[in-house]
Amino acid sequence: MTQPLLYRIAASTPAAHIFELELQIANPDPAGQVLWMPNWIPGSYMIRDFSRNIISLSAADGTGQGLPVQKLDKARWRCGPATGPLIIRYRVYAWDLSVRAAHLDQTHAYCNGAAVFLAVAGQEQQPHTLEILPPASATSAWEVATSLPCKGAAEWGFGTYEAASYDELIDHPVEIGSFSRARFMACGVPHDIVITGRHRADMDRLCRDLSRVCEAAIRMFGEPAPFARYVFLVMAVGTGYGGLEHRASTSLLCARDDLPLASEPAASPGERYRGFLGLCSHEYFHSWNVKRIKPRVFIPYDLRTETHTPLLWAFEGITSYYDDLLLVRAGLVSSAAYLELLAQQITRHLRSGGRFLQSVADSSFDAWTKYYKQDENAPNAVVSYYIKGALVALCLDLTLRQRTQDRVSLDQVMLRLWQDYGKSGRGVDDGDIQAVAEGLCAELGADSSLESFFSQALHGTDELPFVELLRGRGLDTVLRAAESSADSGGKAVPTDPGRARAVLGAKVQPSGEGGALLANVYTGGAASQAGLSAGDVVIAVDGLKVNAVTADKFVSAYPVGSTVSVHAFRRDELMQFAVTLAPAPVDTCVLTLPQDIETLNRVEDWILGRS
Ligand code: ZN
Repeated sequence: MTQPLLYRIAASTPAAHIFELELQIANPDPAGQVLWMPNWIPGSYMIRDFSRNIISLSAADGTGQGLPVQKLDKARWRCGPATGPLIIRYRVYAWDLSVRAAHLDQTHAYCNGAAVFLAVAGQEQQPHTLEILPPASATSAWEVATSLPCKGAAEWGFGTYEAASYDELIDHPVEIGSFSRARFMACGVPHDIVITGRHRADMDRLCRDLSRVCEAAIRMFGEPAPFARYVFLVMAVGTGYGGLEHRASTSLLCARDDLPLASEPAASPGERYRGFLGLCSHEYFHSWNVKRIKPRVFIPYDLRTETHTPLLWAFEGITSYYDDLLLVRAGLVSSAAYLELLAQQITRHLRSGGRFLQSVADSSFDAWTKYYKQDENAPNAVVSYYIKGALVALCLDLTLRQRTQDRVSLDQVMLRLWQDYGKSGRGVDDGDIQAVAEGLCAELGADSSLESFFSQALHGTDELPFVELLRGRGLDTVLRAAESSADSGGKAVPTDPGRARAVLGAKVQPSGEGGALLANVYTGGAASQAGLSAGDVVIAVDGLKVNAVTADKFVSAYPVGSTVSVHAFRRDELMQFAVTLAPAPVDTCVLTLPQDIETLNRVEDWILGRS
């Protein structure tokens, strides 16, 4: 009988941002034990080479006698041979304040297992025990927050936790510090929210609102929830945004101003808080969609190398579709506010020229090298599997409802995927979602072939049929030009049809040396046609000085079609361009709730998930 692997972690030198770790292997490979570090973390599809943060590593036998350590490749070591127990001691540098790695200073310690725990080759399926030691300098107020089950530790306490396997060990991030915490119940399951960082959030309101979101999600997939307890781990900072899903928790990074204050009226959430609730809803939905309903190639994860799948549109896109819908179904956001969010999503999609070059299946497949490694040309060349994926989900939902008079919707497809795949651990293959949707239509005797829908939506680059499908529900998709570079869509504004706004066709950012840095130059736009490139710093238009704040406004004062001289630096060389200004593209979407009761009901049947 193999003994559990024992990991000890201590946030011992916070000022130097170093975790000290010890790993005890009772039954090592007698020929020399191979250890390895993940090169990526599930949910974030980029090679991160976590081994680079291991700053020292040594091996010893049970008597403390040092043993040889041989590096095999960038993320593997062979230690020993040892006949008895093998003790590995290593140190990990942790100074990445994101949801994906590890961070340690005098105020708190946070780690994802993938960034700190070595795997023991051949023993990944053994039970893993984790002992979390209090740092020597920690104040007595420090606690431990994790969804990892306690073994000897008291709840919120330092001590021993356990995991059934390495895969489980690294799927429960750990936060250590003096954080705020509050508990709420959703469908009888305890949920904790833990907030680190300076903030003045109204914890009662968060509990009240999140419990409704969580209940809406649990009810969609049916009770019981697939976890016994769930933890929202939130890091509040000045500016920041991010989330990563786990099987019984999520790590979130947000701006403290996104959190609700006790002094705020308890009306419907403002835009920033609504965004935070949407982030919570998104990661929580992943507890089913991607943590349990998974691409087959993720079972098990191969954390040593890229794992390509054309299905991220389903796992991120469908999740993005439901994150805002759940806020409506939880009663936190009105249907009108939901349509505003959807119109903003459509606007983001329409502003991505990459949608005509890359299919959403290809974007999923190439996430590792394209979506996650976006450069200045990304808006022209990459389509987001989050945004287009969410619109594919919308179109599929509306198509199914249209064909079956609302008797089949995407909700049932997700439920079937949960019942037939997620619950049993069966992986999802490329054609399975189409097959599930077709099966549900066929059960009702409805037209079941979705071949042309899926092949065009997933593998094509023609526009998705959302305008026609929304029309079929009684909703007009109104498109207009953006009012300004800050216009993200969703809101109707009075426009003068006779006066189009002139634009450069570039995204402008402040440049460190003054001037307007062209962060992206859109293919076919005025700047691109005149020969300007991303990275150029525009310093004057028509002989007058501009910067990032004034450039767009300045240009918009000229008539469309006029040619202006633009001075710009490319590196340190001054260049002059003759730019013929183009009209702002009609890429800004507005959706308005219909007035007549019958149409309103049809729209709300869809939004509220009524069948
Ligand atoms: Zn996601």
